[in-house]
Amino acid sequence: MRVLIVEDEPGIRQTMNRVFEREGYLVDEAGDGPSGLAQAVAGEHDVVVLDVLLPGLDGLQVCKAIRAAGVKTPVLMLTALSDVDDRVNGLDSGADDYLGKPFAFKELLARVRALGRRPAGGSVDAVLRCEDLEVDLLRHSARRGDRKIELTATEFKLLEFLARNATHVLSRSRILDEVWGFDYDGESNVVDTYVHYLRRKVDADEQRSLIRTIRGYGYALGGG
Ligand code: CA
Repeated sequence: MRVLIVEDEPGIRQTMNRVFEREGYLVDEAGDGPSGLAQAVAGEHDVVVLDVLLPGLDGLQVCKAIRAAGVKTPVLMLTALSDVDDRVNGLDSGADDYLGKPFAFKELLARVRALGRRPAGGSVDAVLRCEDLEVDLLRHSARRGDRKIELTATEFKLLEFLARNATHVLSRSRILDEVWGFDYDGESNVVDTYVHYLRRKVDADEQRSLIRTIRGYGYALGGG
């Protein structure tokens, strides 16, 4: 697998490079929009990781130009976590998936792996479903049946992670790494606390509880 990283912040770019190389990827780098575009249209990559905010041309312009050139390489857009417009514009510009900054590197690798497997021209699943729960990744909203669920940014990130891995049993430490990041050193019970918040919103007053506790280990969404 060969991946192109287009990111102007040298520290982030170099860290991503190391992470991908450790996983056995061939890595190319670009530090601005025009050089990223030039490398991407050569069409030699399995996945392009493209930051939105770039000098020269921004990520949206680069992505549109890649698609206008007829190149179908899957593009993972890196966006500001809270910006709905960024995500919608990113997918409109021809990106295949997006990842909100800041992100955990495990999540980055998982997304790139998934894109690398996807046949060119496939599109992202914008809505994740688990039984009657729907998680809309574009609008950052969730509902159970007809009931809309209001979530904070962190609650949403946690629910998105659970829904992406629906029915799988997830350990606390994996949830912590993926949702809060490796370098998190806040309170150790943060996962339990946020699952508790999420439960009150997702499962409250419902006949069936979707969030399951796996005692002494972690949590799962659905599948019980
Ligand atoms: Ca940037």
